[in-house]
Amino acid sequence: MDKILRINMGADGGPQATAVPVGEYAGLGGRALTSTLVGKEVPPTCHALSDENKLVIAPGLLTGTAATTSGRLSVGCKSPLTGTIKEANAGGQGGQTLGRLGYAALVLEGKPATDDLYKVFINKDGVTITVANDLKMLPNYDLIERMKQAHGDKIACISIGPCGEMKMASATVAVTDMELRPTRHAGRGGVGAVMGAKQVKVIVLDDTGMGMRRPKDPEKFNEANKKFAEGLKKHPITGEALPAYGTNVLTNIINEAGAYPTYNFSHGRFEGAHLISGETEAETETARGGQATHGCHRGCMIRCSGIYHDKDGHFLTKQPEYETVWAHGGNCGISDMDAIAMLDFLDDNYGVDTIEMGVAVGVAMEAGIAKFGDAQAAIDMVKEVGKGSHLGRILGAGAEVTGKAFGVERVPVVKGQALPAYDPRAVQGIGVTYATSTMGADHTAGYAVTANILKVGGDVDPLSNQGQMELSRNLQIATAAVDATGMCLFIAFAVLDQPETFQALIDMINAFYGLSLDADGVMALGKQIIKVEKDFNTRAGFTKAHDRLPRFFQREPLGPHNVTFKVSDEDLDAVFMEEIFAS
Ligand code: SF4
Repeated sequence: MDKILRINMGADGGPQATAVPVGEYAGLGGRALTSTLVGKEVPPTCHALSDENKLVIAPGLLTGTAATTSGRLSVGCKSPLTGTIKEANAGGQGGQTLGRLGYAALVLEGKPATDDLYKVFINKDGVTITVANDLKMLPNYDLIERMKQAHGDKIACISIGPCGEMKMASATVAVTDMELRPTRHAGRGGVGAVMGAKQVKVIVLDDTGMGMRRPKDPEKFNEANKKFAEGLKKHPITGEALPAYGTNVLTNIINEAGAYPTYNFSHGRFEGAHLISGETEAETETARGGQATHGCHRGCMIRCSGIYHDKDGHFLTKQPEYETVWAHGGNCGISDMDAIAMLDFLDDNYGVDTIEMGVAVGVAMEAGIAKFGDAQAAIDMVKEVGKGSHLGRILGAGAEVTGKAFGVERVPVVKGQALPAYDPRAVQGIGVTYATSTMGADHTAGYAVTANILKVGGDVDPLSNQGQMELSRNLQIATAAVDATGMCLFIAFAVLDQPETFQALIDMINAFYGLSLDADGVMALGKQIIKVEKDFNTRAGFTKAHDRLPRFFQREPLGPHNVTFKVSDEDLDAVFMEEIFAS
């Protein structure tokens, strides 16, 4: 991965692709590369949909290698949803394929002067960019069928659905999985709208003739990879719970903890949770001939994904993730798993973020647009989004806009981005992450649910304000580093609990690149990434006053524990005080 492919969509005479050496971005991958490049090259005050913004698509440092579970792809830009810097992360085959083609990143720049839509095709021989107006407004599944007909089934695709073309602030960038279905999404922050603004419908990747990326020291690399895989296998979460039940194993756990945001964040437990739990979901998938254990890309050891069939045994969607099941389920009072699976399919097909969409629908339900628990009304609303009707445009702009349009006070967003599936009153550590992350409310930025609820990597009382600031800070720094490697974040469970598994990860990076990093070096990389992101946000006009949860979390006690969010503003301000970056 020694070159960057820059595609200037606004070049005179039509889009132009140029492969350039990585240069000053050498040694960076994934989120480290997307955030550094956006920080250096995008004016922080630009409009996110303007020609000044850039969409950076980067495999991680180990992506495209034999390292297990390392196929993640980072998508970065200035976010049209939050106005902050953004990195959204996806599994699927796109990362591995782009890495094997030798690109450290693909950068979409500028904007066409006409309203033409484009297809980009990349293989070992180079890059072809063609006008593809026949693909306009195609949903993701139909689009990928067309790509299969045109290019065969040895490809990987990175695409947008109609919502990306309509430049909705909740639009995603879809990545195809091992079955060449558009099921994996860089979901958060409206990155799909930026790809839509560049007028690129699909990037088709064909790595035929390209081998796996080779380590500098193959012997040491293979040894470390083996130890790392053993570590993932022996941890109860990465070796048992996630493979058996997927991420939705969390529904019963979080509901039991009283931290399951229900009816638009007004209760902490959902009476219908058992009907939409991971256990029920896996049982249904197996009974209908789907798959409860499945990898979203080749080489994943954990295999937390799955395949969901309808009542007649036909493919409906991939296994809906915990966040999706919650957003469209408990958050909207819906306990019909088939309806939730249909909503997941519609979101993937139109190309919208399942979290943002579920929370926007919940806010609309609070406004009385439909009743909580009305699954058909939720499906109808998401179909409006796909059509781009006036109601659909409001919902597709996200939960904050929906709340403003319909006069709702309880709108769970930070920096304009919807809160995920853990109520910050009952998991105070994740509340610190929501408030202070450089990305807006994002559970993956510093998953304090680990020590707060799962008792992984420590034990911090979830209902207390004590220790949450330090917990969130350390996790946010470590996560930024993991996001640079291309490793799936779920490795963190094993890495946090098992020092030898963490060491194996460091050994793998060192053997691949011929480095001598230690644990402090990994944390220094994480700090450097966050520093770059905070600097961008500051120059975009964000201050400490934006690092806050909505006031209702401090004013409305959440049952069953009757707790409010108690972490002080001083603690929130201390998460990333200057001294952190000096050390
Ligand atoms: S653990 Fe799950 S999300 Fe992560 S790479 Fe594997 S299948 Fe994909």
